[in-house]
Amino acid sequence: MDPDIKKMINEVHNQTIDPICAYIYDLEGIQNHVSNMLSTLPKQTNLFYAIKANPDKRIIQALLPLVKGFEVASIGELSKVREVSKTVPVLFGGPGKKDYELERAISENVSYLHVESFLELKKLIVLAKKSNKHIQVLLRINLRTNSLPKTNISMGGRPSQFGIDEELIGEALSILREKENTHVHFRGFHFHSLSNNLRTKLHVEMIHHYIQKVEQWKHQYGLDVKVINAGGGFGVSYNETPGFDWQLFTSLLAQSEALQNLGDTQLFFEPGRFIVADYGYYIAEVVDIKMSAGQCFAVIRGGTHHNRLPASWGHNHPFSVIHLERWSYPFQRPETKSSNVTIVGELCTPKDRLYENAEVESLRVGDAILFKKSGAYCWTISHHDFLGHPHPEFYYITEGNRYGKNNNSITKCYC
Ligand SMILES: *Cc1c(COP(=O)(O)O)cnc(C)c1O
Repeated sequence: MDPDIKKMINEVHNQTIDPICAYIYDLEGIQNHVSNMLSTLPKQTNLFYAIKANPDKRIIQALLPLVKGFEVASIGELSKVREVSKTVPVLFGGPGKKDYELERAISENVSYLHVESFLELKKLIVLAKKSNKHIQVLLRINLRTNSLPKTNISMGGRPSQFGIDEELIGEALSILREKENTHVHFRGFHFHSLSNNLRTKLHVEMIHHYIQKVEQWKHQYGLDVKVINAGGGFGVSYNETPGFDWQLFTSLLAQSEALQNLGDTQLFFEPGRFIVADYGYYIAEVVDIKMSAGQCFAVIRGGTHHNRLPASWGHNHPFSVIHLERWSYPFQRPETKSSNVTIVGELCTPKDRLYENAEVESLRVGDAILFKKSGAYCWTISHHDFLGHPHPEFYYITEGNRYGKNNNSITKCYC
């Protein structure tokens, strides 16, 4: 356990009589992690952050000096990035782009727009001409293949709402080559076929497959390809399975012939989860412990309306117990020892479960549960206002200010 986190939890706990319920984001941890990632990334490759994994402004700010840019999939996300930087490169993707999204993408100078359909492409050609601004595009391709690694989230290699089917590339290119098109410029291809892939070697093979496909299309259609965006999808392990091995991934990639033959084509990656998952903590105090038909339940101040990932995936979310010393009632503090406890939230639905049958040595009402790996797709995918409980507090660990509340009312420094 990071001593800073423990210290921070105790401080927060001491400041209020209400049960603790908070997210802690370790911005310094994210920055160190990304610096390490970049240090082994082969040249010709660029790292973007897909902000949907966690669009917290402080995280975007922390990543700004490190990553090449950001991937966004809505005007809301584009605005969040533009609040932090007017000029940082942005990739704009996502299905079902509205006219106002295409117009804003053009006016806010996104670096590359990922085209997801013919209609989108045709509209873009008209809108770009109308505003007399040029825009570069990557065609998002859904590969017709079953050679992609299988994960619990896949966007490609099967029928889906994402991208343009591989066999329709010719048609997309003819739309781009029509003489009415004066402002939309083809620059390459985008692939994002899966999420949370833990199999490093398969990931390398998938990228080789992308590069081979692009080689083939280059010759078939006489294309000048400046960029291959190989998406995100690097996995994070929430149980005992080994995590994605970034060092192995980048070293295999660096050695690969496919990469050496890329010429002046740039390879982009745009992970979300892998950048932030390990650096977020969701902490919630136990407010009740009860037995039901022989099964022990611990109810926390919080739940899946703050951290929906365990309910969304139906997994047990890794946690540790933080023992906190505060008990003001004259009767005995409820405690469970060496038992299997199911950790549930404060919502009136049986779906509000974060861990089924966890083995804990000791857990008391008033202790806190610290859910690890809560930096990606946790708060942001949750139904925050269901039942109207107060939102959690947000705290940040930063370099030089190891402890600061989001509104700066707390400015303790542990440096
Ligand atoms: C969600 C998404 C990402 C990030 O995916 P991770 O699995 O979090 O790495 C990247 N690109 C696109 C197009 C996405 O939709």
